[in-house]
Amino acid sequence: MTKRIVILGAGESGTGAAILAQKKGFDTFVSDMSAIKDKYKDMLNERGIRWEEGKHTEELILNADEVIKSPGIPNDVPMILKLKEKGIPVISEIEFAGRYTNAKMICITGSNGKTTTTSLIYHIFKKAGLNVGLAGNIGQSLAYQVAECNYDYYVIELSSFQLDNMYKFHANIAVLMNITPDHLDRYDYKMQNYVDAKFRIIQNQTPEDAFIFWNDDPIIQHELHKYGIHGHYYPFAEKREDGLAAFVEQNKIYFTQPIAFNMEQEELALTGTHNLFNSMAAGISANIAGIRKEDIREALSDFKGVEHRLEKVARVRGVEYVNDSKATNVNSCWYALQSMKTKTVLILGGKDKGNDYNEIADLVREKCSGLIFLGLHNEKLHGFFDGFGLPIADVQSMKDAVDAAYRMAKQGETVLLSPCCASFDLFKSYEDRGDQFKECVRNL
Ligand code: ADP
Repeated sequence: MTKRIVILGAGESGTGAAILAQKKGFDTFVSDMSAIKDKYKDMLNERGIRWEEGKHTEELILNADEVIKSPGIPNDVPMILKLKEKGIPVISEIEFAGRYTNAKMICITGSNGKTTTTSLIYHIFKKAGLNVGLAGNIGQSLAYQVAECNYDYYVIELSSFQLDNMYKFHANIAVLMNITPDHLDRYDYKMQNYVDAKFRIIQNQTPEDAFIFWNDDPIIQHELHKYGIHGHYYPFAEKREDGLAAFVEQNKIYFTQPIAFNMEQEELALTGTHNLFNSMAAGISANIAGIRKEDIREALSDFKGVEHRLEKVARVRGVEYVNDSKATNVNSCWYALQSMKTKTVLILGGKDKGNDYNEIADLVREKCSGLIFLGLHNEKLHGFFDGFGLPIADVQSMKDAVDAAYRMAKQGETVLLSPCCASFDLFKSYEDRGDQFKECVRNL
């Protein structure tokens, strides 16, 4: 009998999975609790794939042989629990797509830096002329590309939610950037569960595979021995140490293996310590893939950056405006502040995720000349920062935030939007927040 595949959630990954499932000849059905976007409905209709929206019809779903779940659906909602009870396997779209390609998989995870590193690796591979696709949280889904394209390499950004439902998938190159607390609401508020999810990136690796990681991350170091690692290690860090695949010495980045070469740190397109790590991880991946050192150097130097990540917007009356709207946790704001070369007016606030601002307290004292709290509820920010002796403005719209920053910042300073928080109290998404910031700055 034809295998019955049910796909829960018809976003980018679900629609891609449905297209691939149908192409492979499975009996395919898509079910989404909310309204499906027209774009995805069209893609399903064009191929005659059955779907429903606004409901989950239980008898159809519980009749599946296998279920592919959107990463947005938590593993403990009633429908998933029922599937588990019935012993029906629930997998992620990446797991499914991985079965139908022999391409080399370069997978990137971490709490911060995933999108930047993934984009950077893709840029180097593409520039070097490799036949490469970009997938995961960015761009088109892996399943869609496996169905419709024929790439030799995929560079895939993986969130912990995607990793949660991956079992047999195998990353030829796995990159683990860092681990700091995030999304704990989806992990029973247990850090260990989140750490375990991140380390799933190396499951099924063999000695021919590579595992690239930040050597100075205390959690990675502490947990490393637990997971039965089989891939060859490629650790990187800021300071030279034996065994590192990349490090910095006297303003030069040294890549040591498989091919040894170096480049000036100032040649890097992306600035800030965090981007140094992202560039090292990307350079090591390309080095392992056999890309020529000249090409790696050049691509690390001419990368244009990713929108909403320390994105320079404009210079207005001698003040630089920087959009780091993607900094939705305190750790990423720490890196943004740390990379600031001038005194900074920091715009922060939004939907708090249990933030501990102690992490950025020293940097705020050292670098900030003013603070702008942009959120519906700014009490916690006041409670923490009021004693710092800095000018503070309270605002509830981006226009007011940018106007306040314009008044506060002196010539030669920087205005940085790096909110430490999710955007949902006042904006649709972090992209919307960053877009509004850019528009307000351009209207100054
Ligand atoms: P992710 O995809 O993991 O959310 P991004 O590359 O989109 O990461 O970067 C999000 C934010 O995190 C950036 O705005 C930056 O401030 C910060 N960041 C980027 N790379 C790193 C890193 N390696 N370590 C810590 N913070 C980082």
